Amino acid sequence: MVGSERRLVRDIAKQRITLLFKLGEEEVRRGRVDLARRYGELIYRIAAKANVKIPKLIKRRICRKCKVILIPGLTMRVRIQSEGSRGSRVVVTCLKCGWIRRYYIKTGKTKG
Ligand SMILES: [Zn+2]
Repeated sequence: MVGSERRLVRDIAKQRITLLFKLGEEEVRRGRVDLARRYGELIYRIAAKANVKIPKLIKRRICRKCKVILIPGLTMRVRIQSEGSRGSRVVVTCLKCGWIRRYYIKTGKTKG
């Protein structure tokens, strides 16, 4: 049946997403942010078409609003505020469109 075929399409899509993300990172480092943004848009488009989820690590590195690939110091600013035992608060700002995202990182239970 078509099940295996669909799975193959998804595998290819995931590989493409990873590749496009790497290429996008390269473009940001070269200062070609507009190109990097196009890669970000493509990643979202491929994911939607193949019905795959964008890996968390990659998703966090693409601006939700303008789709630029986010690299600390280049296209994004990262601020980490420690909240003691509760963990750390991370504030990510896209330097291209000003989009702000906040999330928590929980610190492990291990003490000392
Ligand atoms: Zn943005």
